Amino acid sequence: MTVTDHPHLFIGGDWISPKSRSRIQVVSASTEEPIGSVPEANEADVDAAVAAARAAFDDPQGWSAWNPAQRGAALSSLADQLESRSEEMARTVAAQNGMPVAIARQLEAGFPVAVIRYYANLVRSATFEESHPHLLGGTTTVRREPIGVVGAIAPWNFPQTLSAFKHAPALAAGCTVVLKPSPETVLDSVVFAEAVAASDIPAGVINIVPGGRDIGAYLVSHPGIDKVAFTGSTAAGRSIAETCGRLLRPVTLELGGKSAAIILDDADLDLGSIGEQLFGATLLNNGQTCFLGTRILAPRNRYHEVVGVFEALASSLEVGDALNDSTQIGPMASERQRARVEGYIAKGLGDGGRLVTGGGRPSGQNKGWFVEPTVFADIDNKHAIAQEEIFGPVLSIIQYDNDDDAVQIANDSDYGLGGTVWTSDPDRGLEVARRVRTGTIGINRYLPDPSSPFGGIKDSGIGRELGPDALGNFQNFKSIYS
Ligand code: NAD
Repeated sequence: MTVTDHPHLFIGGDWISPKSRSRIQVVSASTEEPIGSVPEANEADVDAAVAAARAAFDDPQGWSAWNPAQRGAALSSLADQLESRSEEMARTVAAQNGMPVAIARQLEAGFPVAVIRYYANLVRSATFEESHPHLLGGTTTVRREPIGVVGAIAPWNFPQTLSAFKHAPALAAGCTVVLKPSPETVLDSVVFAEAVAASDIPAGVINIVPGGRDIGAYLVSHPGIDKVAFTGSTAAGRSIAETCGRLLRPVTLELGGKSAAIILDDADLDLGSIGEQLFGATLLNNGQTCFLGTRILAPRNRYHEVVGVFEALASSLEVGDALNDSTQIGPMASERQRARVEGYIAKGLGDGGRLVTGGGRPSGQNKGWFVEPTVFADIDNKHAIAQEEIFGPVLSIIQYDNDDDAVQIANDSDYGLGGTVWTSDPDRGLEVARRVRTGTIGINRYLPDPSSPFGGIKDSGIGRELGPDALGNFQNFKSIYS
C-alpha cells in the first residue's frame, strides 16, 4: 500500500476543504505502519454535510422527486463504479482492519455491489403509491414517501458492506444520506466517495463525514437528521437509542452478538466437506463479525470429537498479513481490540476453561495486532467468554445433553443475532432452527441474503436491514382520503 493523505472531504458532491484542521491517521493492522489519512470532520463539517443532504432532498426536481426507475438506474451506475474499483476497495479494507484480502474481495468489494444492485432492481418494480376503496366510502391513496435525510453510522469490521446495508435502501427510497465511517476505516470511504462522484448519483445525495464517537453523537442528534441507521457495539447502540428516543427520531440498530453453533449428534464433522462452511460461520474476518457462532454447542456423546474438530480447524488456519492472498486469519483491527481479545482469553483461563489450541500471539509475527485462533473447551454458558462479545478468533465449546438442552443453552444469551445448526438431517435442522430465538440462523452454512431481512433481537438490536421491507425503514406512509 502506498501512503495516501487525502486533502478533502466529500460533501455536496464535491471535494471540499474541511473546516477542521485535524486529521485521522490510519495504521495498517498487519504492519503497524501508517497507510494514509483523511481530514477529520468537525461539527461545522457535519453541519455542511447535513445542509447539502437537506438541499438535495428538498430540491423539487431532485433525487426524492425522481421517478424510482431513474433512481434505480443511478444506483446501478454506482454499483458499476464500485465494481470497477473492486480490487482497490478490497486491498484498502484489508490493509486497514486486517480482514484477509481474499475475504475482503468477496465481502467488502462484491457484497456491497450485490446489495446496491438488489435495491436498484427492487425500486424499479416497488409500489410507492396505491389507491383502494375507503372503508367508509370514497377512496384512500396510500403513499410511501422518503423519510428525509439519513444519518448512517458504520463500524470498522465490514465498513463497506454495513454502509451499503444503510445507504442502498435509503437511496432507493428517495432519501439522502450523511455517512459517518469509523476512524479505523476511513480510507475505503475515499474510494467509495470517488465511485459516488463518478456515478449518476446527484451532488449532495451522499455526503461523508469521517470521525469518531463524538462526531457520531453530534450527527445522531443533529436537528437536520430525520432517521438514524447504526451498526456497532451494543453500548453505543443504547446511547444512540436514548438520544433518538428523546428526539422521537426513527432508528434502526444492528448491534453485537454471541450466537450459538449447535452441532447436532448426527452432524457430518468431516472438515474436508464442511471445513469451509464451519470456518465462515465461526471465525470469519478474524472473529470480528457480529453474527458468528462463537459458542459451539457439542452433544455429550460426541463432545471429544467436536473438540478435536475445532482444534484441527483453528490450528490449521494460515495466520498472516491481511494482504497475502492465502491468509485466512489476519490481525485484530487495532491494538485496543487485541488487548480486549487477550483480556477475554485471560478471563476464560481464570474461569477454568481448558485451552485446546491458541491463546497467545503467533510466533513469527513481529508486527501487527495478531492473536492465535483460540479454542476453549469445558466452558460453562455462564462464563464471561460465553456471554460477552469478544470480537476475536476465540471459540468456546459447551457440552449439552439433548436437542432441548441445546436450544435452551442457545437461547440463554442477552443477544440474538445469528447462529447455525449442523446436522445430516435438513428437516431436523429446520426444526431446531425454528426454536432458536434469533434474527438469523443457518443450517450447515451461514451467509446473509441481500434479499431477506438481517438483524437481531434482544441486545442485538432493533429493526431489520436488507430485503424488501428495509425500504420501509426509510419511508413514511401518508394516507390521502378523497
Ligand atoms: P462502536 O460501537 O464504539 O463504534 C461503531 C461506530 O459507531 C463507529 O463509527 C463509532 O465512531 C460510532 N460511535 C460510537 N459511539 C457512538 C455514539 N455514542 N454515537 C454515535 N456514534 C458512535 O464500536 P467499536 O468501539 O469500534 O468496537 C467495540 C466493540 O463493538 C467491538 O469489540 C465489538 O464487540 C462491537 N462491534 C460490533 C459490531 C457489529 O457489527 N455488531 C461492529 C463493530 C464493533
